[in-house]
Amino acid sequence: MAKNSPLRWDVDDSRELYNIRNWGAGYFDVSPQGEVIIYPFGQGKGPSLSIPEVIRGMRERGYDMPVLLRVENILDSQLNLLHDSFRKAIKGLGYKGKYRGVFPIKVNQQQQVVENIAEFGERYHHGLEVGSKAELIAAISQLRSAEACLICNGYKDEEFIDLGLHALRMGFNCFFVMEMPGELDVILERARTLGVRPLLGVRAKLSMKAGGHWTDSGGDRSTFGLTAAQIVDVVDALREHAMLDCLRLLHYHLGSQVSNIRAIRTAVMEATRIYVGLVQEGADMGYLDLGGGLAVDYDGSHTNFASSRNYSIDEYCTDVVETIVNILDEAEIAHPHIITESGRATVAYYSVLLFNILDVSRIELTALPEKLPEEAPEPLHNLQEALRGLSLRNLQEGYNDAVYYRDEIRQLFLTGQVSLRERTLAERYFWAIVRRIAQEKTKLKHIPKDLLEIDHSLADIYYGNFSVFQSLPDSWAIDQLFPIMPVHRLEEEPTCQAILSDITCDSDGRIDKFIDPQGVKHTLALHPLKDGEEYYLGVFLVGAYQETLGDFHNLLGDTNVVSISVEEDGSYHFVRELRGDSVADILTYVEYDPRRILEDLRERAEKAVRSGKISPSERYRIMSAFEDGLRGYTYFER
Ligand SMILES: *Cc1c(COP(=O)(O)O)cnc(C)c1O
Repeated sequence: MAKNSPLRWDVDDSRELYNIRNWGAGYFDVSPQGEVIIYPFGQGKGPSLSIPEVIRGMRERGYDMPVLLRVENILDSQLNLLHDSFRKAIKGLGYKGKYRGVFPIKVNQQQQVVENIAEFGERYHHGLEVGSKAELIAAISQLRSAEACLICNGYKDEEFIDLGLHALRMGFNCFFVMEMPGELDVILERARTLGVRPLLGVRAKLSMKAGGHWTDSGGDRSTFGLTAAQIVDVVDALREHAMLDCLRLLHYHLGSQVSNIRAIRTAVMEATRIYVGLVQEGADMGYLDLGGGLAVDYDGSHTNFASSRNYSIDEYCTDVVETIVNILDEAEIAHPHIITESGRATVAYYSVLLFNILDVSRIELTALPEKLPEEAPEPLHNLQEALRGLSLRNLQEGYNDAVYYRDEIRQLFLTGQVSLRERTLAERYFWAIVRRIAQEKTKLKHIPKDLLEIDHSLADIYYGNFSVFQSLPDSWAIDQLFPIMPVHRLEEEPTCQAILSDITCDSDGRIDKFIDPQGVKHTLALHPLKDGEEYYLGVFLVGAYQETLGDFHNLLGDTNVVSISVEEDGSYHFVRELRGDSVADILTYVEYDPRRILEDLRERAEKAVRSGKISPSERYRIMSAFEDGLRGYTYFER
């Protein structure tokens, strides 16, 4: 418990419990008042602002929870950090090429995100990476710097290629990265027809593969990229067409969230060797594109665990540049410009999902009767005895008995030999035993595995006003961990152990895995609700991949999105506000026509008037309620 005094909980204890200083990367901390605060310019740099205060501002402006809060300065700061780190590494190691980052649009395609990147990235010539025609068109419309790179990955049809060639003519550094051998012929044909000499790249399929959820893009069995033999074929074909000078870039992508620096170094090494080979073959080259993979330390453990990373951004940059320098200097080959396609690390930090808790359900401990009636079923007597006989020496045995007799009661209930009330009483004994075991087991040195899971079964369920499917799809689909914590009351000890449930009626709409420096926690410590007071939680680092992967489970729509921008003096303003979907919006997505719906409802109401079920003035009130309902937010409104 508390470090300073064993009795008083303070904000330091909350900092430690939620590990905020480790995953917060300097952007998030707890104030002395017990509120989560944001440092938009990074720790120790500039002002901070309190999340509960921002929530008050949003409420005053009529924005209901849930809200996705974006702090634009954090994106700006992350871009600074990336470019600064590369600049330091390049300078320190005497590297002759430049660093050119690009943002892969698929990581967050929202217009305001891409616009922010184009704006903040302009001074660094930060570019964009696209994988489809739609993304290419979006990129061309947003990109500002003429020196920035525009990288086209993905399978490209004629139309895609034409768009890219037009972009090149307009002055964009638009590269076509070949993902499969067949693309070359189409590119050459379109380039000839349009009279443009293209900038070409090849995507190499590396032989190494990084582990983890997101990292299936590497390795021999990867579906993307060319093998060494196919790359050589491309070189031969280009030479034949006298276009080898168009081959300018080598690309690879290991996969996302590469948590081990060793995998990153090995990949750079292999790719640099291929680069050397291409230069020796006579290609012009000049660009080495290392793809994405720069990981985010979601749990703050600084390890190679899947939701972490065992390196800093500085180490990443130094390792990359050093590896390239060493190989190229030995081969006496000029240093290329380095491109990385960091998506996750660029945008994850700048969005926070905020929601309120609507209700809590917990297993209540109710008083048990002194004496059971004689005629009570046998297993019920056994449960009572198990509770009485429980001691530190027989916890496992007591647990086995409790489960056994409870199951027996359930069986008897099924065959009609136990009444509903008797069954309920048995369940109460069962939970009394489990709760006692949970308390006692903390005194054991070695806790049996069965008993470790007890806390999880006793956890309170906190119902949050959000949808996992809409706002945290990776939590549902691939069990990704995000840091989650209350954004206020942190000067108080959180005395409840909880799991979270969303408001979809799907049993998968829950979160029961939480970050822990030692692995994964199955419950989250939260505060008891207070009457008449909202309790707000934040899910942090959700800026990457979560927004457009989400779906409309139970027709819960897009949440409100509020972007704020903070000035050097700490004042801030709401720069962009995006209303979440209304009920009418979401019905439209599944092909309903809200006007038709209203007509149908009016007709049904009129029928009810005609048959005398409601009066005409009741019809008016009912129809007004439906109209309001269609305009309303899809989430729970107070
Ligand atoms: C998804 C993707 C990225 C982004 O990877 P992060 O790990 O988010 O940085 C980069 N390049 C390509 C080709 C991708 O498919």
